[in-house]
Amino acid sequence: MKRLFVIILVVTNSFILLSQNPVNSMLPVEVKKAYQNGTRTLSGVPGPNYWQNHARYQINVELKVEEDLLIGEEKVTYFNNSPDTLKRLVIRLYPNIYKKGNPRQWPIGDGINDGMVINSLSINGDSIDWNNREAVYLFSTNLSVFLPEPLAPGDSLEMEAGWQFEVSDRTIRMGKYGSNAYFIAYWYPQIAVYDDIDGWDEIEYLGAVEFYNDFNDYDVHISTPPGYVVWATGELVNERDMFSDYVLKNLMTARVSSKITRIFSVEDFKKTRKIIRHDGINAFHTNTWYFTAVHVPDFTFAVRRDVNWDGSSLVVDETTQRRVFVDAVYADSARTYQNAARWARASVEYMSFELPGVPFPYEHMTTVSNDRMGGGMESPMMANNGDPKDSTDAALTIFHEISHTYFPFFMGTNERKYAWMDEGWAAFLPMGFGEKYFPEYPYRKRFVERFEGTNGTEREATLITLSYNLGDYDSYRVHAYVRSALAYYFLRNALGDSVFKVALHTYMKRWYGKHPIPYDFFNSFNEATGMELSWFFKPWFFERAYADLGIKKVTNNNIIVVQNYGGLPLPVVVFCEFTDGTSEIISRRTSVWSAGEQAVALQVDKDKMIKKVVLGSELIPDIDETNNILEIGNN
Ligand SMILES: [Zn+2]
Repeated sequence: MKRLFVIILVVTNSFILLSQNPVNSMLPVEVKKAYQNGTRTLSGVPGPNYWQNHARYQINVELKVEEDLLIGEEKVTYFNNSPDTLKRLVIRLYPNIYKKGNPRQWPIGDGINDGMVINSLSINGDSIDWNNREAVYLFSTNLSVFLPEPLAPGDSLEMEAGWQFEVSDRTIRMGKYGSNAYFIAYWYPQIAVYDDIDGWDEIEYLGAVEFYNDFNDYDVHISTPPGYVVWATGELVNERDMFSDYVLKNLMTARVSSKITRIFSVEDFKKTRKIIRHDGINAFHTNTWYFTAVHVPDFTFAVRRDVNWDGSSLVVDETTQRRVFVDAVYADSARTYQNAARWARASVEYMSFELPGVPFPYEHMTTVSNDRMGGGMESPMMANNGDPKDSTDAALTIFHEISHTYFPFFMGTNERKYAWMDEGWAAFLPMGFGEKYFPEYPYRKRFVERFEGTNGTEREATLITLSYNLGDYDSYRVHAYVRSALAYYFLRNALGDSVFKVALHTYMKRWYGKHPIPYDFFNSFNEATGMELSWFFKPWFFERAYADLGIKKVTNNNIIVVQNYGGLPLPVVVFCEFTDGTSEIISRRTSVWSAGEQAVALQVDKDKMIKKVVLGSELIPDIDETNNILEIGNN
């Protein structure tokens, strides 16, 4: 009895302690409800009642290059693992971003078209009447289909759809990138996420918001005219039937070799039957490429001809000796992509062994150059990247897009609400990679400068503000990429590299293949470090704290007092020059503010006379540098 009492006391106490933690005391109501329902817990572990829904997609799609038309048929089996009876399905029709009259955040000029045209739609064999407002409701990119029979918990349904849309050359994350160059993403009618926080995700796809998907299985047949090669998420099942012996031989070499192998070149396309096995059989022949992928949050593909294909591979897991195939596709006109496979390989290696230090989870990683001057777009196992003039820019973009494999693909975070939970990591992770391979390149300095331009102004939103609520694109960028990347950087600085890594691994292990929200991240880090990190999380993620440290005073006995005027926890670096010509540098990690201090006192050599004190560095943001220098000799 006594023992039971003690256990109850411990459990109750830890619950009280966890809910008293300042981050958990500011919970939104739907998050509180998730704790009450046991789908999530205050310690950051998925709850005993955690669930997520799942679908199997079978898609047959044909790309008609003369008309730039994509025509598809799909059969989707959707499993309701939630405890709720679903009366409707929400289906995303992304191509409607191009539809005449629909809202969008980005201009598309003359790229307006009919959007997604649905030719047929049925649920469990019953066709859906498009003219009946009680059966369907279409608003912009979201289609609600009211189910003839509600879908009970634990049950599944089958949806079949026939559809088509025009692939625009006014590209938004996908489209036609010049003649013979297509990257197809945000494309098929896709069942939206239904989760324990919001129910159906009905955030419109208007341009800025990106990614939030369930983990699904895909079985996709892609038909193309002769001469075109297809790269896609997953495994090319009929590879031996598609490629010539010449290509297969090079491919096999690349899959076991650490060197970069040229699998085929632009030159090879000019030779009949050198690349695709059945090309040239007859004039009406089309090739059908068959891919499968299991437990991935999306499926995308590239269709190209007259390109080079380089490949290599590496072991990503010393225990299992599992190899990952890493490859790059680019035109002869490429500016820097001749080295893309090399940088993609170095990226996968860094991510597997250094940071995050988790073996690369997919069987391949294909980086395709779309020949634009910059930018990039991630999808599972595929990246659709620009090809900047500067080769370091190119390498860091390749790294960035590949690092999305972990966030938001391995960890199924909701980029529509919390873009900083993936873009922040994908902006932070290249900092270490850049320091390793391009020590001269000012990657982190640029983030600091960008932050200083917006930090503390009205335009800056707190990180906990939902991403889709940010209308101004500059505010969105700083929120998703800049403040968040620096927050992760200074969190690591506060914890030290090894503790940070243990906490990151705890968070990743708990939530991979699931849908973590910000509180799962905060609480996992609290628990893994055994520390209460609200002193860091509150000002960086919940408040408008800004970067401004200043020298408050220097005492007669040589104590330098540094005041945190902006309230943002940052490292302290002070350069102190003495009258005898010598100097001293004093540094403190970000954790110097962990007890909620507003000022820190730094003792320098008492036996010398201070001449000048300079606070800060170009790698630590500070929006007001006027209080960073104190010259004593002049007093
Ligand atoms: Zn990104």
